[in-house]
Amino acid sequence: MKAHDGMYIDGTWRPAAGTGVIEVVNPADEEVIATVPAGTVEDVDAAVRAARAALPAWAATPPAERAARLTALRDVLLARQDEIARTVTAELGSPLKLSQAVHAGVPVAVAGSYAELAAGYAFEERVGNSTVLHEPVGVVGAITPWNYPLHQIVAKTAPALAAGCTLVVKPAEDTPLVARLFADAVHEAGIPAGVFNLVTGLGPVAGQALAEHPDVDLVSFTGSTAVGRRIGAIATGMVKRVALELGGKSANVILPSADLARAVNVGVANVMSNSGQTCSAWTRMLVHRDRYDEAVELAAAAADKYGDRIGPVVNARQRDRVRGYIEKGTAEGARIVAGGPDAPREKGYWVSPTVFADVTPEMTIAQEEIFGPVLSVLRYDDEDDALRIANGTVYGLAGAVWAGDEAEAVAFARRMDTGQVDINGGRFNPLAPFGGYKQSGVGRELGAHGLAEYLQTKSFQF
Ligand code: NAP
Ligand code: MG
Repeated sequence: MKAHDGMYIDGTWRPAAGTGVIEVVNPADEEVIATVPAGTVEDVDAAVRAARAALPAWAATPPAERAARLTALRDVLLARQDEIARTVTAELGSPLKLSQAVHAGVPVAVAGSYAELAAGYAFEERVGNSTVLHEPVGVVGAITPWNYPLHQIVAKTAPALAAGCTLVVKPAEDTPLVARLFADAVHEAGIPAGVFNLVTGLGPVAGQALAEHPDVDLVSFTGSTAVGRRIGAIATGMVKRVALELGGKSANVILPSADLARAVNVGVANVMSNSGQTCSAWTRMLVHRDRYDEAVELAAAAADKYGDRIGPVVNARQRDRVRGYIEKGTAEGARIVAGGPDAPREKGYWVSPTVFADVTPEMTIAQEEIFGPVLSVLRYDDEDDALRIANGTVYGLAGAVWAGDEAEAVAFARRMDTGQVDINGGRFNPLAPFGGYKQSGVGRELGAHGLAEYLQTKSFQF
């Protein structure tokens, strides 16, 4: 057990204002592995003041120099990949292989992508008789969740730094350790004091203080729709810019001409990865009625193979929520064909990989985000029916379409109300804009679209 102290403010670890602490628990065995200080309004205020003071110089730093600092940050993240992966496994519970490939690997790619974008971006353009400047928005308050704990910090920090903004990050209470590692990486990369600041703490205290701080110009939030709605209301009331990355209930649409076994196997792997704690997971599998029974059998077999190898979910509350949804699925008439409410291990926050058949579109498990290893398989009659089901939730974050022919899949994907669609198993692209239609959010992250979120325009007329 390691008792960490201090907040990373103005380029150094300085003592927290209060005495409260947060216990960090390993979800695989419920051991307390560390404590971190619980930030207060005073800590947030000190961090925002440091970010404000550092803003003019960082905003005026030539983009090529900001790019050089981001390249250095990428290199430190790369050099520390093992430590990052082990830390995420300890506090989130994800299997080490996933931590290495995704939790430690993706942030290196994203930091690298913003080093390149900062160097090449047109921060000035000519429009008729005007010159338009793309200037940094100012001080950013970033509030992040625990499910991809480093990625979500880097997906906000890297574009903010590329744009010339300074920021204060409040990471999730469940995963503060990798956030602390990241602050060390920022320091090692030579990013000037005050440009990046970290305050660990509880959402309703430190998170809220950050969103409400009058000297924060933009609030960027990733997490639940319930909290996102509150943050959006606060930001709008104070006339601040706001970006919200919220929940999802994405559809995996398997058209009749698709390679069924491949579509089902990749679909199950997508949902079970990270124990189902992925906002863009394809948690609804849509299959034509003629191939439905075959698909259900394949999905059940695929899920059974995982057992406890997917890792636990993040905490006891999340485990209880997920189990509650599994029980609700049965109560509303869906049929469990793999897994179920019983945990595969006694100690730790484990949930069995679960597949439901005979799910209808209006059932709770087909409408609400479960955030656990639970897949619903739904039946459709024809393409219009599939489209109605796919678009029939309040969310619109991601999705997938499978067909024998790419053009057929694309034609269907064009009609989906969602921010990202993987065509026949297309790969993750760290430059593609990521973000939601409908209640999945406001704004986009990653790539040039993600950078634009941190810029505001000024025009000179000649
Ligand atoms: P959450 O409560 O929305 O947490 C996200 C972040 O917001 C955390 O840093 C949290 O701090 C903070 N927060 C909480 N209440 C706040 C407030 N009143 N003001 C300011 N900040 C606040 O999400 P969660 O509890 O971690 O997970 C619950 C559900 O959110 C999941 O089941 C899932 O549906 C959804 N979720 C979505 C995503 C996504 O990527 N779209 C990611 C994670 C979760 P604390 O950590 O201290 O609570
Ligand atoms: Mg929470």
